[in-house]
Amino acid sequence: MQLVGIARLAASGELLAAKRTVEYFELPTRRLLNRTSERMPFRWTINPYRGCEFGCLYCYARYTHEFMELDAVRAFERKIFAKRFFAASLAAELRRISRKDWIAIGTATDPYQPAERRFAVTREILKVFAAGRGRRLSVTTKSDLVLRDLELLQEIARANIVHVNFTLTAMDEKLARLLEPRAARPELRIVAARRLAQAGIQIGVFPNPVMPLLTDSEENLEAVARAASEAGATFLSGGPLFLKPCARRVFLPFLERHFPQLAPEYEKLYRAGAFLRGEYALRIRERLERVRTRHGLRDAPIEYTPELWEPEPEQGSLFEPASAVRSS
Ligand code: SF4
Repeated sequence: MQLVGIARLAASGELLAAKRTVEYFELPTRRLLNRTSERMPFRWTINPYRGCEFGCLYCYARYTHEFMELDAVRAFERKIFAKRFFAASLAAELRRISRKDWIAIGTATDPYQPAERRFAVTREILKVFAAGRGRRLSVTTKSDLVLRDLELLQEIARANIVHVNFTLTAMDEKLARLLEPRAARPELRIVAARRLAQAGIQIGVFPNPVMPLLTDSEENLEAVARAASEAGATFLSGGPLFLKPCARRVFLPFLERHFPQLAPEYEKLYRAGAFLRGEYALRIRERLERVRTRHGLRDAPIEYTPELWEPEPEQGSLFEPASAVRSS
């Protein structure tokens, strides 16, 4: 079969390193910004990697490996592609989009997974944002490695609206370890959230995905909200598990192994499709609203004006010339 597009690039990517069972590859990338659907709270996404070593059992992003003709189950966690890009190209991409648009980093991969220690793709992306003004940016992670970039995030936050979101499905360590085998422990995420909040970065917490009969109890959501609030987060929002076919292939066998009594329940719940709507979704919305109220959390970030904020100019851009983008 002749490979085309992203699959061809992935197949010819240079092997950068192999760590036990995980292999790292380079993926030359001309465009980092991807447009999302109108339904999303952000207009653009940036995913510094393809694949994610954290290997969450419910991960819906596994399908992204299928575009490269790779297996969405094992290869997604074991073959990690680090995007190679030029800072000047990203700055040029940003100049072409409105500053009013929200940009989300880390929607189909974790920007602070182990590969980031070695390849620092996320850090290089953040440096481009640090050289500009007036952007709206969010970074979502399950890792305390984000603390490495604390000063860089502070620099960005002086002239851009930025918030860092931590995904936290459960405070119960054993359950979190089962569901998110290689992600940072919940407690480490909370420690990182607290340090960033103390440094003036706005923090959100996502108990996402809320999993029926596993993490959807008011008790669990309450524990997550309490920890989020004590760490200084300002908002918490979430919704029910979205079980895409690629996630289903991993999640249902996982249930059979660890929670066999739940497997038939999930079969029933997700018989009609990947989304849970209707009464169940409403119940989760109400539970989240109650725990937010009890802990003084909002359901969305607070709009604020950074110290060096500059609104979108009529024409042109306030981005500095590419040559001014720092490389280290
Ligand atoms: S951290 Fe996010 S992208 Fe990575 S495996 Fe988990 S859900 Fe998927």
